Amino acid sequence: MSEEAVLRLEAIERRYGRGETTIEVLGGVDLALMAGESVALIAPSGAGKSTLLHIAGLLERADGGEVRISGQATSNMNDDRRTALRRSEIGFVYQFHHLLPEFSALENVVIPQMIAGLKRAEAASRARELLGFLGLGAREGHRPAELSGGEQQRVAIARAVANAPRVLLADEPTGNLDPKTADHVFGTLAELVKASRVAALVATHNLELAARMDRRVTLRDGRLEEMG
Ligand code: ADP
Repeated sequence: MSEEAVLRLEAIERRYGRGETTIEVLGGVDLALMAGESVALIAPSGAGKSTLLHIAGLLERADGGEVRISGQATSNMNDDRRTALRRSEIGFVYQFHHLLPEFSALENVVIPQMIAGLKRAEAASRARELLGFLGLGAREGHRPAELSGGEQQRVAIARAVANAPRVLLADEPTGNLDPKTADHVFGTLAELVKASRVAALVATHNLELAARMDRRVTLRDGRLEEMG
């Protein structure tokens, strides 16, 4: 039997009503993401990238189609089950880091693990391991304001994978960084994907960075196409 996709989108549809008219943002999107695979989602502004990531991350419901996480269908789940599944299986990274400003880098990675039920010592141990992997070992006691933009984004990546999700969704994670820093953050993200076997779907405008991922897809007229 072939390996099962950790994230599978099947014929995903999403429409938004605007007064009398309806716009179809997603008109039958199919995608399969395997463990350890990184896929870049490249499309112009307004094409539906954020909508697609929100639906894949169970933050928003599709109007049609199915989102499967490790084979499990999610469309018939109630909101509590979707939230529980999202918390355990999906990590998010956004363009802006959204770290808690009053807490250190370490605490920002510890807190989601404690919410998930881990004891502080275990959570701190994993947080140190992750921050070390991302090159932030010497920065764990710093608050977000005491970190550079690239360091903040690496802490945000550590936080996103703190609970060992199977799927990592990122919306322009380097969009707010200068090219050299973006390159470095992207490199560490790619290493993390390979080392942890998380499946990553990363929306980006940066074609150079996208070229370093396993696959590239784009949204055209509400459908996903391979870019090669
Ligand atoms: P992208 O992330 O590629 O820039 P989005 O997914 O944010 O695109 O948006 C795709 C389209 O859907 C846009 O035309 C946007 O205006 C529209 N859209 C997104 N969210 C909503 C919403 N909540 N209500 C109405 N229209 C929306």
